[in-house]
Amino acid sequence: VAKENGKRTFTVFSPEMNRRVAEYMWLDTNLRKGLEQNQLVVYYQPKVATGTGEVRSVESLVRWDSPERGLIPPMQFISYAEESGLIAPLGRWVLQTAARQAAKWQQQGLNLRVAVNLSPRQLVDDSVVDDLAQVLKENQLSPCTLDFELTESSLIEDENRAHEVIGRLRSLGAQVHLDDFGTGYSSLAQLARIPLDAIKLDKSFVRGVNLAPVSQSLIRAIVATAEALQFRVIAEGVETESENQFLDCVGVDEKQGFLFAQPMLPEELEQWLKAYSPHPQQKDAG
Ligand code: C2E
Ligand code: MG
Ligand code: MG
Ligand code: MG
Repeated sequence: VAKENGKRTFTVFSPEMNRRVAEYMWLDTNLRKGLEQNQLVVYYQPKVATGTGEVRSVESLVRWDSPERGLIPPMQFISYAEESGLIAPLGRWVLQTAARQAAKWQQQGLNLRVAVNLSPRQLVDDSVVDDLAQVLKENQLSPCTLDFELTESSLIEDENRAHEVIGRLRSLGAQVHLDDFGTGYSSLAQLARIPLDAIKLDKSFVRGVNLAPVSQSLIRAIVATAEALQFRVIAEGVETESENQFLDCVGVDEKQGFLFAQPMLPEELEQWLKAYSPHPQQKDAG
């Protein structure tokens, strides 16, 4: 409650602020410990290629299996990790885990590219380049196995530095994808300067696109822009068959979403892949 009538005005935290402070303190006590005690878990969500229906790549998505609270989604701890600096060891752990998993799959004859999400902080701190070189070597991975997804906010702080790091990651064989595309503020000029392989269309555009003419025009415009810049387009958040069909028609290259599969544990993904049969499109479709 803010006291406004007295001479000395002071503000007391609102219940919402109190809750956030308490949450920050809980994370401060527990997340580092969770990371050290191996409580983090990486899930993998497939990406389906348009046309052939094949699955050649997956995205790694971290969760925290807290003994106290159960499975915690990344939205509830990644921003804390970014603010506290814990994102550096956490991000490195995800990359190492994804690399080890990719190597296991290669030994099983499964050739899957694995994409890792990068926080803006990880891009400015260029140790991610050394980390990539190291995990490729340690796991004897082919250079075209690990990819990175980064958001437009990664480019704001220091664009030149970001470009340099992106260039070095790509020279090690990684693809770099711009995540949540359409929700940030990059200009076309900026977009044209970034050395990218693909953009990931944010799920907010994909949602209900079959029903909304404005979203349809937006997606068409984004796909045309990506084509002009020679970036591939990956759509995230595909939940319905009609969204899927629309995306096929406008020429999106890969699709990801609950329509195909949720993020899964490695064994679940292996089972899913065994049961999955790609449904190639008819030649005249699209
Ligand atoms: P993102 O990279 O944009 O990942 C897509 C999110 O959408 C994931 O949420 C995924 O589970 C969810 N999703 C996938 N398909 C669908 C769908 O059809 N419908 C809906 N409604 N959602 C779908 P998740 O796993 O909770 O991750 C949220 C965000 O946390 C990620 O967004 C990413 O920004 C961040 N994140 C996850 N793992 C990492 C990580 O290892 N490092 C960093 N820095 N960030 C991570
Ligand atoms: Mg992502
Ligand atoms: Mg995304
Ligand atoms: Mg997104």
